[in-house]
Amino acid sequence: MTIFSKIIAGEIPSYKCAEDEKHYAFLDINPVAKGHTLVVPKREVDYLFDLTDEELAALTVFAKRVAAAIKTAYPCRKVGMAVLGLEVNHAHIHLIPLQSEGDMDFRKDKLQLPAEEMQAIADNIHKAFCQ
Ligand code: 5GP
Repeated sequence: MTIFSKIIAGEIPSYKCAEDEKHYAFLDINPVAKGHTLVVPKREVDYLFDLTDEELAALTVFAKRVAAAIKTAYPCRKVGMAVLGLEVNHAHIHLIPLQSEGDMDFRKDKLQLPAEEMQAIADNIHKAFCQ
């Protein structure tokens, strides 16, 4: 079972931003920017491009809805989308609010935000997602 499957199952806590029957979105624990969110399929698949065409399309459409919620909660120029998957072997999409190109730099020092602020960010995105 991957760490993301444990998060989806509620065995490990997460800052939940959105959910539907087949997908889950939660804050990255080491964000590169405020609102950095991970979008994952509930089905455990390592590599994003090993998802079926239908699963990949559905995940992308779900990510589109989450991105709209992020932009509502945290006005930004655009929400960037990235796929790495080098650390966690459970397919996922990174969604990152962008003010500048540097906001998408995964090599820079990650933000350390207090738990209350992480919870508030997740709540704001979740509220926008549910509107
Ligand atoms: P990647 O696999 O795309 O290279 O990186 C995995 C991402 O997942 C990283 O940005 C890392 O901070 C995040 N991550 C790893 N473990 C956890 C976790 O237990 N909880 C959360 N919320 N994020 C995690």
